[in-house]
Amino acid sequence: MSKKKTTLPLHSEIAVDMTWDLSAIYDDQKKWEEDFKKLDGLLSAAAAFKGRLGESASVLAEAFKTSDELERIGEKVYVYAHLLSDQDTSISAHRALVDRASSKFAEISGELSWFEPELTALPDKELKKYVDAPELKLYKRTLEEIIRDKAHTLSDKEERLMGMASDVFSASGKTFSTFNNADLKFPKVKDEDGTKVELTHGNYINFLESADRGVRKKAFTAMYDTYYKFRNTLASTLQGNVKLHTFSAKIRKYPSALEASLFSDNVPVEVYDNLITAVRGNLPALFKYFKVRARAMKLKKIDMYDLHNPLVPECKQSISWKQACKWVREALKPLGEDYCSKLDKAFEQRWIDVHECKGKRSGAYSSGCYDSYPYVLLNYTNTLSDVFTLAHELGHSMHSYYSNEAQDYHNADYRIFVAEVASTTNELLLHHYLMNKCTDKNFRLYLLNHHADQFRGTIYRQTMFAEFEKIIHQKAEQGIPLTADELSQSYFKLNNDYHGNIVKPDQRIEMEWARIPHFYYNFYVYKYATGLSAAAELSKNILSGDPGKLDAYLGFLKAGDTKDVLDIMKNAGVDLSTPEPVNVALEEFARTVEQLDNEL
Ligand SMILES: [Zn+2]
Repeated sequence: MSKKKTTLPLHSEIAVDMTWDLSAIYDDQKKWEEDFKKLDGLLSAAAAFKGRLGESASVLAEAFKTSDELERIGEKVYVYAHLLSDQDTSISAHRALVDRASSKFAEISGELSWFEPELTALPDKELKKYVDAPELKLYKRTLEEIIRDKAHTLSDKEERLMGMASDVFSASGKTFSTFNNADLKFPKVKDEDGTKVELTHGNYINFLESADRGVRKKAFTAMYDTYYKFRNTLASTLQGNVKLHTFSAKIRKYPSALEASLFSDNVPVEVYDNLITAVRGNLPALFKYFKVRARAMKLKKIDMYDLHNPLVPECKQSISWKQACKWVREALKPLGEDYCSKLDKAFEQRWIDVHECKGKRSGAYSSGCYDSYPYVLLNYTNTLSDVFTLAHELGHSMHSYYSNEAQDYHNADYRIFVAEVASTTNELLLHHYLMNKCTDKNFRLYLLNHHADQFRGTIYRQTMFAEFEKIIHQKAEQGIPLTADELSQSYFKLNNDYHGNIVKPDQRIEMEWARIPHFYYNFYVYKYATGLSAAAELSKNILSGDPGKLDAYLGFLKAGDTKDVLDIMKNAGVDLSTPEPVNVALEEFARTVEQLDNEL
C-alpha cells in the first residue's frame, strides 16, 4: 500500500526522445488558433445545408463533405489541446485550450444535430436512391445505417420531445455518479504498517492486493458495509436507469432493452446469450483456478477478499525502457514485415510519452485523430506490467494507424465492439514470446498468473456482469420492482454460481451491484468478453504462421467502420456468432491454470 512518491521531474526536464512529438500536429500555437478560427466558417457552411438534404445526391455529398471537414479539424484542435494538457495538467494555459476546444465541439454537435433526423425523415425511396448514387459512394454505409434505423425512429414531434427530455432521462445515472464519486465516503482502514488510510475507489484494489489477509478483510468489509447503508437510494438510481432503457426500447418498438442496445452494432441477441452459455459451460476451469489459489495460500477454502492478492512471489525484475521496446518489437514480429516497419515509426517519430513526471495524467492511453500520429501516453516505471501496457496501447495505436491509412475519414473510426481486439492480441503475443524466452521460475509464474487473471477479469467477471444486466432488465420488463432486496438476492445468487465451492459465500458481496458504474452503461461490458475471446483466437491464427491468416488479421486492422462488426471479425478469422471463440479462449485459460498448478 504505502508507495512513497519520490520527487518527479517536470515534463520539460525529460529527455526529448522520451516524449511525444506534438509539433507534428501544430508546430506552434498560432497554427492551432488558425484552425480554431476556421471552425466557425465551416460551421456556417454546414448549417447552410439545413433543409436541403433531400435536394439531390450532389447536394447531400457536399453536406457530408462539409460536416466531415468541420469534425475533422475540430478533432485535430481538440486532440492537440488534450495531449498538451495531459503531459502537465497543472499548466492552466493548456487546460484553457482544452476548455475552448471542448466547448467548440459541443457547439458543433449541437448545431449539427438536425443532420441525421433530416436524413431519416426523407422517404425510403429517396434514401434508397441515395445509397446507389455514385456521388455518395463514400457515405453508402452511413445511409444504409439510417435506413436500418428508420423502423425505430419516432415522428418528428416525438423525437423532438425525446431530445428535450434527455436531461431528465439521464437524471438517475447522473445522481448515481455524483453520489458515488463526490459524496460517498468510506472509513479509514489500517494498512500493513498500522497506518490508518481513508479507503477510496482508487486505493481499494491496492488493499485487496495486500499480502496481509487482515488488511484485505477490513477493506472488503468497510467497502460493502458502506454501500449497504445506502442500498435503498442506490437501488432507486439503478432502477431509474434500467427503466430508462426499457422505456426507450418499448417506445422505439424493440422487443427488449437488450435488443435495443445491440441494434446499433447489428449484433443478434444470440451472440450475447451464447457468450453467457459458453462461459457458464467453462466454469469448472475457473473453479480449478480458485483451488490452485487456495493451495498457494495453504487454505482449504478462500474468501471473497482472497481473489486479488499476489498468488506468486513478486516479480522484482526491473525492465529498462530499451529492453521493453526490444521485447515488444520481437513479440510482435509474427505480425509481419509491414506491421513491424509501421511499428518502428512509433519510436522513430516519437508517438510515445514515456515517463512519469510532475502533473502528468496518470494511467495509460492511446489517442489521436485522423490528422495526427496515434499517440501513446504512458507512466512507465520499469515493471513487467508496464511492458504489457506498452504492447496494449501500441495495439490500439496500430489499429488506428492502419484504419486511417486504408480508409477515408468518414469510414475510418472503428467501433467500441472491436476496440479492444488489437490491443489484447498484442498482449497475448507478448505473453507467448516471453513464455518461450524465459526460464526464471518467478518470472514464468508471474506471466502465467497475469495471463490467467486477464481471462478471469475480462471474460468470466465481465460475463457475470453481463448476465446480471440481462437479469435485471428482464425483471423490469416483467414489471418486477428492482428493490434493494431484489437486486441483492439476484446478485448474490449469480456471484455464488460464478465462484463454486472453494470460495466461501459471503453475504456482503450481495452489495457489489451498487458500486459498478458499468451497470449504468446499457449492456456495454459483454464487449470486453467478446473482444478478448476474439483476440485469443486471432493470436493463435497469427502464430500459426499461415500467411492467409495474417492477411485476414491485417484486413481487420484496416477495416475501420466499413462493415458490421460481426462481418469484420468473421473476415478476420473469428466467428463471434458461435460460442467457438469463447470456448477457444477459455481452453487457453484452462491450460494456463494447469500450467500454474504444475509450476507453483
Ligand atoms: Zn485498451
